Amino acid sequence: PVIATIALAGNPNAGKTTLFNSLTGSRQHVGNYPGITVEKKEGYVDTPHGLTRVVDLPGTYSLTAYSQEELVARDFLIHERPQGVINVLDATSLERNLYLTVQFLEIGIPVTVALNMVDALEAKGMRIDSDRLASLMNVPVVRTVARSDKGVREALDAAMNHPQKAWQPLHISYGPDLDPVLKEMTDLIEARDFLTQTYPPRWLALKFLENDLVVRQLFEADSELHRDMRDMADNVARHCEKTLKTQPEFIVADYRYGYISSILRQGVLTIQPDLQGRA
Ligand code: GDP
Ligand code: MG
Repeated sequence: PVIATIALAGNPNAGKTTLFNSLTGSRQHVGNYPGITVEKKEGYVDTPHGLTRVVDLPGTYSLTAYSQEELVARDFLIHERPQGVINVLDATSLERNLYLTVQFLEIGIPVTVALNMVDALEAKGMRIDSDRLASLMNVPVVRTVARSDKGVREALDAAMNHPQKAWQPLHISYGPDLDPVLKEMTDLIEARDFLTQTYPPRWLALKFLENDLVVRQLFEADSELHRDMRDMADNVARHCEKTLKTQPEFIVADYRYGYISSILRQGVLTIQPDLQGRA
């Protein structure tokens, strides 16, 4: 029997497919998601209580509605609700890779970070304190070198044994211009079952502010709510344009990067000259 589904997600070239191959060997098949050309890769791994299905999701930098890859990845996570997600990170560009991690955490998905390519990182004379990263971000972190099968099984075990059972969305601050309207929108959304049964309320509010067309369509089922949400979003967009010459979606990106750099500043990345050139 298949006892769990674990998804692999991350930026393009982080090593997802290498890790997928290492886990599933030849027990895999490749197809397409219905109606689109995005590849769907699935495989199976033997685990003590039965088979675990592993899905290699398309690589993405973000979870907007701008590309098929991003929509496939986020729809899979939201609608299929895998028991765990291994977020494969290229350790040599940690800051950029964490931008997607934060977005998974904002949905509330139980993420396990596979800090991949630590061999390449060490070859550059750098080291990531994975315990510190794990405690600052409140996620399990496993160091991997997928190309040499290192840490791969540990990453799967960590994802299967993730302590978080229900979604627990991360709420980061988007500053004085967006937080109040996000709160107002979230309160409105929380009263609507047809939305909250599938989506985390604050995530919907955030996506609405970011002008996500797919999310905006969801609200068309309730025209009064849709109008109120649009009014609020238009007001805050006008305010941002007038006072800051920017748009809510750029403010959101800035605060996400701010959140990440505040974590990285706390001694996560260290330079180790003695390691240089050894790996
Ligand atoms: P994907 O786009 O996330 O599926 O990434 P791939 O699995 O295709 O890997 C991208 C490249 O990184 C390939 O050339 C891999 O051989 C290489 N790669 C994968 N894992 C590692 C690793 O742990 N260390 C190093 N140095 N290279 C890796
Ligand atoms: Mg791939």
